[in-house]
Amino acid sequence: MAEVQDSSQNTGGSTPFRIDIQVHDLLMNPAQKQAIPPSLAPKDDTAPGLPVPVYPQGQYVDGQEMTLREYQNLNTKRTLKAWAWPFVKSRFHGDELRPIITYLFTEFKCNVDCHYCWSFNNAVKGMTEQTARASIDWIHSIGGRVLALMGGEPLLRPDFVHKITYYAAKKGYYVYLPTNGRLMRPEVIDRIGDAGVGIFNLAIDAVEEKPGLPKALNRIRPYFEYLVKNQHKYGYAVMVNINITHINMADVRELTEIARDHGVATDYHINEAPMLEQSHFRHLEDNSTYLTPDDFPKVDALLDELMEKNTHGYKMANPVQHMRKMKLLMRGKIEPWSCRAGQNNLIIRTDGTLAPCFPMYSATYDWGTVGHHKFDVKQLTEMKKSCSTGCLSTCNFILSHAYDTGRVIKWGVRQAMHGFRGATGSFAD
Ligand code: SF4
Ligand code: SF4
Repeated sequence: MAEVQDSSQNTGGSTPFRIDIQVHDLLMNPAQKQAIPPSLAPKDDTAPGLPVPVYPQGQYVDGQEMTLREYQNLNTKRTLKAWAWPFVKSRFHGDELRPIITYLFTEFKCNVDCHYCWSFNNAVKGMTEQTARASIDWIHSIGGRVLALMGGEPLLRPDFVHKITYYAAKKGYYVYLPTNGRLMRPEVIDRIGDAGVGIFNLAIDAVEEKPGLPKALNRIRPYFEYLVKNQHKYGYAVMVNINITHINMADVRELTEIARDHGVATDYHINEAPMLEQSHFRHLEDNSTYLTPDDFPKVDALLDELMEKNTHGYKMANPVQHMRKMKLLMRGKIEPWSCRAGQNNLIIRTDGTLAPCFPMYSATYDWGTVGHHKFDVKQLTEMKKSCSTGCLSTCNFILSHAYDTGRVIKWGVRQAMHGFRGATGSFAD
């Protein structure tokens, strides 16, 4: 196991992980490792899979777009149903698990290799239909109505994503699809749009591809144009998700303007080293994307520019307070905060096991499986005293404020109108 140091340098260099060593050991070497129940084992093909989607469903006609008002009404209605109402109900369920957002890792493989990303492993088998269906049914039964498909790259299996989107949308879910866009062909957009996806979250880090940053607009430009053009046909939102690294600060500025010119929102992340040990991750050493202390003033200036744009009408998913905290995050100076992971957010791994959040994907601590969660608020609270000092998960950050102020409803409406964050790997919540 690599050496674990404190979190005072959390963006790489000599410090591989962003968590206290005792907490790290508890999460990675617990006395009891997770066991997958037989009902979720990949060989279980007796459980029901997903229905074959009807396509096309007939409600969309080429050349007949929704008006802006119809589009906004649809998204406001979706937001109220999927975000606001479950949020209000969760307030009456105290310490029970009441997911506002569920991150369903349908895939852990990826078709590219962003050098900062530990969120893919091409040796991991994708989720089965049975596990996907059991997950959607279970989360629905405990009040969740937002389903974020995660990876890796979910569109490695476009038919599977089509099936999940169709099944979940019919049950009233708001479906959120992050993608690097490489496989987002027009026919894939048409099918998933027709199935009722709520938002495409397109992760792009550069305008032209560069070593270590393959998520480049030039590789997907026609798909991007098609995606944006069809928003008002299918009713979905689009957003562009950008990771700020050592080598792409000019691109961040340019992508921000391109997104604005296309009327879509942006969302930003600070590049981070892994929270926990990731034995499959190949770029922990000599990573050209990691921020260095010399970068901090440049990132400060970039964030100041972005915050200025945010307050002047650019559509951005990150609240200004969140961007301000990014300056502290890269310096390892975040104070503990009351994250809601494991209470109002969770992830479901490809094999149906559970964890509170995306940075904990590789933990072997037993938080249970689909239908049998073992989240314990006491354990989570202890853990978060350490991990929250190296993490600024946007959704959990906003939820933690919302549990005091109700701001989540406003935020949800804003996200639905302008797109909201999450991404494959960079980083999704
Ligand atoms: S950031 Fe996304 S696209 Fe890049 S390697 Fe990771 S999962 Fe793949
Ligand atoms: S999302 Fe919450 S629980 Fe997960 S690493 Fe971040 S602070 Fe910790």
